[in-house]
Amino acid sequence: MRIAVASGKGGTGKTTVSSSLVSIWDLPVIAMDLDVEEPNLHLFLNPEFTGRRTARMEIPEVDQSLCNLCGKCSELCQFKAISLMGKVLMTFPEMCHGCGGCIAICPEKALTPASRELGEISWGHKGDTEFLMGRLRIGEAMSPPLMRQVKERLSEMQETSSTTETPKDVIIDAPPGVPCPAINAVMDSDVIVLVTEPTPFGVYDMKLAHEAFTPMNKPMGVVVNRAGLGNSEIYEYCKAKNLDILAEIPYDRQIAEAYANGIIISESSDKMKQIFTELAEKIKQKAVGNNAGEVSRG
Ligand code: SF4
Ligand code: SF4
Repeated sequence: MRIAVASGKGGTGKTTVSSSLVSIWDLPVIAMDLDVEEPNLHLFLNPEFTGRRTARMEIPEVDQSLCNLCGKCSELCQFKAISLMGKVLMTFPEMCHGCGGCIAICPEKALTPASRELGEISWGHKGDTEFLMGRLRIGEAMSPPLMRQVKERLSEMQETSSTTETPKDVIIDAPPGVPCPAINAVMDSDVIVLVTEPTPFGVYDMKLAHEAFTPMNKPMGVVVNRAGLGNSEIYEYCKAKNLDILAEIPYDRQIAEAYANGIIISESSDKMKQIFTELAEKIKQKAVGNNAGEVSRG
């Protein structure tokens, strides 16, 4: 089972929820941080890292002495990453998506594969919980190819022999918002958990996320963080859209202090452990197609 923890915007408590779910989830489980632009799940889980690899992507390299300036590569490239400018063929590696089309089409074999660094993939464990994350190189804009490689590493980790025969569940800390990386992060999940807060900004951005993820036709539910703050609009929206509120995390000074100290919220008190244990159960029910129902807000 794969659970994607997403949010319409940053700062709603997505990583707080991810780390807390990981903490109470039944083993075997893999915690995966796919928020590759700003990964911070490791700051809460504090895993012991056991492996790293550099993520690279293929880009074309031009041998100008072989190029006859026919322009076929330039016409093919949808991203303007290779372009004929007068009598010079220019490449723009930062815009290249690594499709390899230009290399394949070049009649003169003037293009050959080179590579550039995207970032780093690292993995390890916290106790019996396995951990995996990607981190984009500073200044790099191409998240999806790195995320693809993180998922490839996940497949390797899932294939390695486990202490049990039970398949490893995966809890994904997805990027915030609804750009391409966020869609990429949730597309393989079995359940999407949307974390929001009952403020006008939280409601507005959660609506965008809900609309963006709805076409995927996956079970979805909402966690309201900082419940008690703001207004009731989020509850009205969820009711109108038949969107289950799976849990509410109260707006509470003690929780804020735990967060500020990097403490996993579900480990901060018995009450929070109970909230996340019930949340985990509702997520599992959603994954098997049962309706988890709405929690009481009374
Ligand atoms: S397709 Fe090959 S020969 Fe034609 S412009 Fe591109 S690199 Fe040069
Ligand atoms: S590999 Fe694909 S995206 Fe990159 S320059 Fe060639 S055609 Fe364009």
